[in-house]
Amino acid sequence: MSVMNGFLKRVWDDTLLAIQENNFFDDVVYNTYFSNSSLQELDDHHALISVPTNMQKLVLSEYVDCIAESLEKTAGKKVAVDVLFEGELPQTSKMFFTTIEEPVVEASDNILSTYTFDNFVVGSSNKESHAAALACAMQPGKFYNPLFIFGNSGLGKTHILHSIGNYVKKNQDNMRVHYISSTDFVTNVVNAIKDNTIEQFKRQMNQLDVLLVDDIQFLAGKEKSHEIFFHIFNELVNNKKQIILTSDRHPTEIKGLEERLISRFSSGLSVGLDSPEFETSLQILKKKLEHQSVDPSLIDEDVLAYLATNFSSDVRKLEGALNRLIFYSINFSNSERIDLRTAMSAFKGQVLITDRNDISISTIKKSVADYYGLTRQQLSSKSRTKMISSARHIAMYLCRKHLDVPFTKIGEEFGKRDHSTVMSACEKIEKSLKTDDLLKQAIKEVEKGFLLT
Ligand code: ADP
Ligand code: MG
Repeated sequence: MSVMNGFLKRVWDDTLLAIQENNFFDDVVYNTYFSNSSLQELDDHHALISVPTNMQKLVLSEYVDCIAESLEKTAGKKVAVDVLFEGELPQTSKMFFTTIEEPVVEASDNILSTYTFDNFVVGSSNKESHAAALACAMQPGKFYNPLFIFGNSGLGKTHILHSIGNYVKKNQDNMRVHYISSTDFVTNVVNAIKDNTIEQFKRQMNQLDVLLVDDIQFLAGKEKSHEIFFHIFNELVNNKKQIILTSDRHPTEIKGLEERLISRFSSGLSVGLDSPEFETSLQILKKKLEHQSVDPSLIDEDVLAYLATNFSSDVRKLEGALNRLIFYSINFSNSERIDLRTAMSAFKGQVLITDRNDISISTIKKSVADYYGLTRQQLSSKSRTKMISSARHIAMYLCRKHLDVPFTKIGEEFGKRDHSTVMSACEKIEKSLKTDDLLKQAIKEVEKGFLLT
């Protein structure tokens, strides 16, 4: 069975189970009209069911709403359902499922049930943030307050926040928890001021046990919101209520935030998220396949390795690549399995590195970051602390030494610095190397991290 057929079959089997469990129909009706039915197509808006007889088509067409309701549970998306008699089927069937699992907000607390600790894969790139987040979920207000999680886009910050929310809801049902993005916070503040309900808004916030604020960097420059947020923050923390914040960078690097907020944000624990390393990416891919009901054994192991090698800079990209691959193999490949050739054609022209042992700016960054206990993102940040900037200089030097890339390109990859900065960093390291044996030793160690052995 091909990957697509396997996927559709599993979705349909689950849907039939849901239909039975919902008792929409008597058994006799179910057995008569649903037997030998199958799901032929599924895309973001539309599902096509086929049945072997015209009679079944006539009857089931009357119940497309019930079918759509059950299908929503198993495919994660509300789609329009059509029923066709097999003789009427189009020649080729297609399926797009770029956004099948669209998160569904279920409650006024804004927490998405789809993001949980159970479906979050833990590896060395995120284990610190994961452990800190879980601790805050288990005993809100007790360990780190605030917990500040920072990292580039697509590395799981939002996923972790909702996981905390879901965990608290499940295990501490007396606690009030609320998720809000900082842009929504700003909008709410603006509206509350306009409607004269700002005191009420503050009161609501102050009654929470756990406040989850996503992408706090967008609070920058919003002075009125700073003041309100400062007030709420102090009230909650003073009462030992838990606050967890996320941002695309370390609190000290957010421009346009008041000093008193920065110092509050840094007063608990700040933990970084990094791009997933190879093994974690593989596990994430397997988890996503499982979630989409695709049998992982239909995809060759080296295909997953290929995706993990080339698309791991962020998890969103990794997921996108997996969807693209499945879509491509369904539509353009006749093979039952997805092999490396199919994968190569699906990503023709998009991929630079094909061998996971190849050296790239990213592997050099990772090795330097690991050696100095930093995140890759810190290497590209604006931070000028001595430790970070010397690590950054070493990384730039190694990129120049091992890769055939111009200074401008290296500058771009390290926080859009210009080529003269990179040049002088390289010169500085070269000069120090002549006299500094400790530096020499450090660079040797770092090189071990990315050179072929
Ligand atoms: P961010 O908020 O940091 O931009 P998200 O939390 O939105 O990133 O994550 C992007 C996507 O990657 C989401 O679909 C999320 O479920 C997925 N993801 C990120 N990290 C992991 C992980 N460790 N395990 C499983 N899925 C992950
Ligand atoms: Mg996010």
